[in-house]
Amino acid sequence: MGSYINQHVLNNLFYILVSVFVFYFIYDHGEIFKKRPSYRNALLAICMGFSIILCMKFPIYIDERCIHDLRQIPFLVGALYGGGIVGFILLLILLAARSLIYGFEYITAIVYMTMFVVTALISPTFKTLKRRNKLSMSVWLTFFLAILTTFLAIIIAHFPVTDTYIVYFIVLPPIGMLFVVYIMETLKEAIMMRSKLVKVEKMEVVSQLAASISHEVRNPLTVVKGFIQLLKTPSLSQDTKDRYIQIALDEINRAEAIINDYLTFAKPASNKVERLMVDAQLRKVVQMLVPMAHMSSIEIVEELQPAAIVGNIQYFQQCFLNLIKNSIEAMPNGGTLTISSRVHGNHVIITIKDTGVGMTTEQVGRFGEPYFSTKEKGTGLGTMIAVKMIQTMQGALHIQSEVNKGTTLTITFPKAAN
Ligand code: ADP
Ligand code: MG
Repeated sequence: MGSYINQHVLNNLFYILVSVFVFYFIYDHGEIFKKRPSYRNALLAICMGFSIILCMKFPIYIDERCIHDLRQIPFLVGALYGGGIVGFILLLILLAARSLIYGFEYITAIVYMTMFVVTALISPTFKTLKRRNKLSMSVWLTFFLAILTTFLAIIIAHFPVTDTYIVYFIVLPPIGMLFVVYIMETLKEAIMMRSKLVKVEKMEVVSQLAASISHEVRNPLTVVKGFIQLLKTPSLSQDTKDRYIQIALDEINRAEAIINDYLTFAKPASNKVERLMVDAQLRKVVQMLVPMAHMSSIEIVEELQPAAIVGNIQYFQQCFLNLIKNSIEAMPNGGTLTISSRVHGNHVIITIKDTGVGMTTEQVGRFGEPYFSTKEKGTGLGTMIAVKMIQTMQGALHIQSEVNKGTTLTITFPKAAN
């Protein structure tokens, strides 16, 4: 057996493996192949077709009746994974290559047509199988087809079965098939795993938000409910009633603050990601906060240059609403709020600068931590939401702050392609 595994066998295996890797490399990098099965199948047909031609062009061994190579491996892989159409294209490629390189041989046509028909029939079942069953099915199928077609060849053409034929047509292909299907499955799993992870990450923020908002709002509402029930007690003094009403109002305000920090733009939290103009969106957010800034006589300076990023508009607005609101709240006695945006290389840089109370190093370190607040009626949720949303949009946040001087937040996003 050792002498059968020579350089030519390894070359054949090499062509097959390279075509499998090229297929997955291109598949992984082009969204279109994942969206459109027909594109994926075309790619599969091209890659497997190439390795069929290479295997035939540089075969293992040629004798007067037969060309020994491993072409049935890419042929069967293509037909199993791609189905009938891919299988048919590969059959045409195979027969055309055979005719062009070595001349037409009707027995080859019969052998591969038989393989094509059986594999195309099995392909739909094969695709639904688990990895382990795929492995065993592909091995047995290859073996079975080799035996079947050998019998056909013997009956129809009195084909002489030699040692080399048994090794290269019957024994080696199932082993090669095991190897190749194993690699196909491993690569497929790795690609699927990765795209799943990306999705999970995106969904996580949304579901976390939904979960925590209902939890957060429930607490104040429970308190309000309790005090309103207490108000029904007869013989309450006006004083006590006023006190209960005040508590209920405070709690309702708190619930409102939480909702504002979480989801002001409470359209159904869509996951839509699109190209958005940073300058226009920031202008909108600032517009909403102008009345609040005026109350503390804060001057607003906008230095907004047009810049586009990719992200969710609701997230973007909520995020900057929370950050800019904090800046305004940091300047109760007036000051200057400067909002800027610009493009720098492949990045979009946004800065929010205030001349407010600033933060200590410890406070900077806790920025974005849930429930961390230095305000009497603070929620400690605004920065957490903002930081999460920046992360979701692949951005980065840098804080520079000095107590009683002010704070500058620098947020960097990848620039959207033009
Ligand atoms: P809240 O605003 O309800 O306190 P946030 O999560 O929005 O909750 O902010 C958390 C804390 O971070 C604030 O209480 C404040 O101490 C600090 N902080 C955030 N932004 C600034 C800022 N621009 N200047 C000073 N302190 C800030
Ligand atoms: Mg806040």
